[in-house]
Amino acid sequence: MTPKPHTSISAAPVFDIHTHTQFAYCAQDVTAEAVIAKSREKNLAGVAITEHSPQLYCLRDDFWCAKHLFDQKLWRSPLHSRMPEFRREIFPLRSEFVSIGFEVEVDSCGDLVILDEDRADAEFLIGAVHWVNCDTTGLTPAAETLAFMKTCEQLLAGGVDILAHPWRYFGRAKLPVPKELYTELADMLAATGTAAEINYHTNAPDPEFFAMCIDRGVKIAIGSDSHNMSEAGEFGGHLETLALAADGKDISPLIFTPPQKLL
Ligand SMILES: [Zn+2]
Ligand SMILES: [Zn+2]
Repeated sequence: MTPKPHTSISAAPVFDIHTHTQFAYCAQDVTAEAVIAKSREKNLAGVAITEHSPQLYCLRDDFWCAKHLFDQKLWRSPLHSRMPEFRREIFPLRSEFVSIGFEVEVDSCGDLVILDEDRADAEFLIGAVHWVNCDTTGLTPAAETLAFMKTCEQLLAGGVDILAHPWRYFGRAKLPVPKELYTELADMLAATGTAAEINYHTNAPDPEFFAMCIDRGVKIAIGSDSHNMSEAGEFGGHLETLALAADGKDISPLIFTPPQKLL
């Protein structure tokens, strides 16, 4: 495919649907306030703060070992939760320009790692496969790929609004991306009304996959996934991928923006 630099979306302001804060264990130099300020400076249409809910519920070491995916009390218990503090500091930043959602995972019981009361107070949820939700010890690459698809299916069944960084799992697991499954995942997104996220944080989104999503009427979400201030408000790569995937079509109705249901 040849780039179509004049795809109409490239002229429209971007809504950044995915950013992190000083509460993230993986934050580099981001703070919610600085991300919002830079997003305003860059004339974005808006920005969403979407902290990792499991990181807010769990201790750092438990999170990084993915223990919360196999032991519900680690995230359901208030014992180590930083959520009250997060809500106190971050929720007041909500405005016409700032939405608040969460980046969630799905645990081995098939439950989204978010408490009902926090879900009720979020505008939307981004579902991410940071780990597959079963033990991968001894799995062949083919079995691990199946586990990835099953984890995606469970995230979508849980009702997330957006699938975060589709296929990034494979780069991190040092496995080849199973391109033969692009249609299957695009079909799953279409069937559940879930958006696909173009995300460049340690990730290289493939325009071919997003073209398949567009063909099926799947919404496209644009996220900086800012962990570092250098990522906030920067969408050159995103717009290039979008233009390649749109291949000259006007896809502005397919761009995901948060519902801001709680303002
Ligand atoms: Zn993520
Ligand atoms: Zn993220």
